[in-house]
Amino acid sequence: MQILLCYSTDVTLPRRYPLLFNPKAHGEKAQKAAAFIMERATRFALYATSSPAEARDLAAKFAADGEPCVLAAGGDGTLNAVVQGLVGSNTALGVIPAGTMNVFARELGIPYGNLHKAFDVIEAGYIREIDLFQVNGAPFMQMAGLGFDAMVIEETTWESKKMLGPLAYLLAAAKILGEKPPLMKLRTAEGREEEGVAVLAGNGVLYGGQVPLFRMANNQDEVLDILVFHEAGYRLVMDSITGIARGGVDLAKSVTHLQSAAFEVTCDEDFPVQVDGDLLGRTSHALFSAMENRLRVIAPEHPMVSRFGEAMNAFWTWTRKMQGKS
Ligand SMILES: [Mg+2]
Repeated sequence: MQILLCYSTDVTLPRRYPLLFNPKAHGEKAQKAAAFIMERATRFALYATSSPAEARDLAAKFAADGEPCVLAAGGDGTLNAVVQGLVGSNTALGVIPAGTMNVFARELGIPYGNLHKAFDVIEAGYIREIDLFQVNGAPFMQMAGLGFDAMVIEETTWESKKMLGPLAYLLAAAKILGEKPPLMKLRTAEGREEEGVAVLAGNGVLYGGQVPLFRMANNQDEVLDILVFHEAGYRLVMDSITGIARGGVDLAKSVTHLQSAAFEVTCDEDFPVQVDGDLLGRTSHALFSAMENRLRVIAPEHPMVSRFGEAMNAFWTWTRKMQGKS
């Protein structure tokens, strides 16, 4: 009788996820994320990136290699860069929220304030497929803006953001409010026409953090929710706030809401364009259309609270705080 003694040397290693991150990202959230990543460095194949273009190219390389998923640690700008690299592939995006606003993470119900829970979502591996749209060839997952909000981003310098934080945007906005913006003409593929001084396009509900600006949006319904603002300056701001207080910015008299999968915006002058919160540049002709493929993104299968409900709660808490009532 033969007895075989086997000493197994097989060790089942936990899966290592390719993770793209910017080691120079500053801010409290970015530093927390960096510490979180280093504590679990054995779970990741780390790729430090120095620019959005590098993040995009690396993501594209992983996609071409057939990698099932790529994680990105960062805010909406970083995620947008990685998404550009994943377009048209089966590679899913995993999100480690490390930005200031994390609008996209909030939209999907990814715990944006708890990295442990955000990583649990990645480990659970549920994949949601969402619509992707593009403006002049630049893809976006969450939203794009033409005119006023892009102008605010354009006017806000990096130095002032570093010194003043969110106040820098308010200062830039105050400066722009006094200026007369050029009139933009919008035309949808269905032939509907509108004129306005600012146009926002939402794939998801949320805008700029926790404001549910596109209350009827759904990032799986194959259309963009479009808001056309007809009034400029302080009327734009006052009407928007009044509209939101009544339950939706589109309820304001000077705001028109429409839905379409393709539209164009033209103007006699150049206007700035932002995608997912980052300035794209200036143009006098912006063409929006759906991308051929959806984005696969790792998200909770059952978000704890409805995105809209959570967003409304957060928004009301914030407005009460601003009014000194909390
Ligand atoms: Mg939609």
